[in-house]
Amino acid sequence: TTATVQGDSMKSRARELADRASAIIPGGVNSATRAIGAPWAFSSAKGATITDADGRSYTDYHAAFGATLLGHADERVNKAITEAIRDIDLVGLGTTDLEVEAAELTVESIPSAEMVISTLSGSESVLQAIRLARGATGREFIVKFQGCFHGSYDGIARNVISSPEKAWGFDPNSSGILDDALNNTLIAEFNDLASVEELFDRYPDRIAAVILEPVPHNVGALIPEQSFLEGLRTITKKHGSLLIFDEVITGFRHALGGYQEICGVMPDLTTFGKAMGNGYPVAGLAGSAEVMKNFTPMGGSVMLAGTFNGNSVSMAAAIATIKTLRAPEIGFYDHVYRLGDRMRDGLRSITAEHGIQAVVSGVGSVFVTYFIDREVRGYRDLLHNNDLAYETFHRRMIDKGSFMYPMSLKRNHISLAHTKEDIDRTLSQAYEVLGQMAR
Ligand code: PLP
Repeated sequence: TTATVQGDSMKSRARELADRASAIIPGGVNSATRAIGAPWAFSSAKGATITDADGRSYTDYHAAFGATLLGHADERVNKAITEAIRDIDLVGLGTTDLEVEAAELTVESIPSAEMVISTLSGSESVLQAIRLARGATGREFIVKFQGCFHGSYDGIARNVISSPEKAWGFDPNSSGILDDALNNTLIAEFNDLASVEELFDRYPDRIAAVILEPVPHNVGALIPEQSFLEGLRTITKKHGSLLIFDEVITGFRHALGGYQEICGVMPDLTTFGKAMGNGYPVAGLAGSAEVMKNFTPMGGSVMLAGTFNGNSVSMAAAIATIKTLRAPEIGFYDHVYRLGDRMRDGLRSITAEHGIQAVVSGVGSVFVTYFIDREVRGYRDLLHNNDLAYETFHRRMIDKGSFMYPMSLKRNHISLAHTKEDIDRTLSQAYEVLGQMAR
């Protein structure tokens, strides 16, 4: 599929586009994790199918890192956008009908939300959540977990997929970030309450917030223990710190109210993004009125600004997506949970039949296959994952026609547009691939 075509006359369209991109866009991509080995260029995406520039189609389990929850180019979403932009684009003063409707739908959906602001990306929402937590508490430290990713904001960009030597130590995601920005973020271990308690003991009255992906999907799918989530709520409350759920992936996906609806643990602040606009740029920060009143327009001291926040395309996309997710006749959650279970059950029996040591994990629409010889509770266990096998499995699945992001620990997503037939076809491809890998 990615074979090098020699000679200009035989150049594939995908290679031509990738070459043109690489000449003027660093690495030919607009986001680092899109570089997965040239030449990849796509010309269409519809429903559960993506088609590359040479006309080869794939069943898409990458789903734009999980943004396209209803499937690509959903007609309900596209229609809502087209209608909205006929009337209004962006005024940048006061508010609009669309902003009010999107905010009301969001607050109705997210159990802990009393107020919400709209941004354009998960990273901006996280930046605002952290600024708000520090502004509201007057404290400097943030606790995050090894393996969780919260976007590109300097203050949180450390310790995602760390090598064994760097895990829980100092591991920036990028150069160019001041140590000072990162040193105020402390690292704990997921599903290990003692590692959090230790930080609170060491820094009494200095921790502004604990932030986590309630299900750390940036390392596949670590399943949170209920006692861990409840413990975080208790500890943060006891110490006067805020609890922030980063539901940028889990939000709207695992339940309309995000993972907090499933676990019943209510954070002070919630960030979300990705799926809420089904591929269009919209994200948010929700919280209690008590915390949100720290924003300057309510008389507080925390500044939020963004020229494009609340623009009509983003708002219309969010409104149409949320309405579709909650429509009983569509049955979104039943659909993706049923297909997700079918995929996970299938992968479990296939790996067992081929004698492959694996743990198939996930929630609802998300599934991953760890190649590992032990139960997976936290990052400590993931250090034993066979990265080469994980990546090989995904690469070979792409060759068969099912697009799974070809890097270890990356998750797969099922959308409303996927069918039982898609799942069964993918499972028979997996049967062949895993059979070859077992030999
Ligand atoms: N938080 C989580 C949990 C994420 O997975 C991501 C992106 O992958 C972000 C925040 C950042 O979101 P964005 O890429 O929209 O800035």
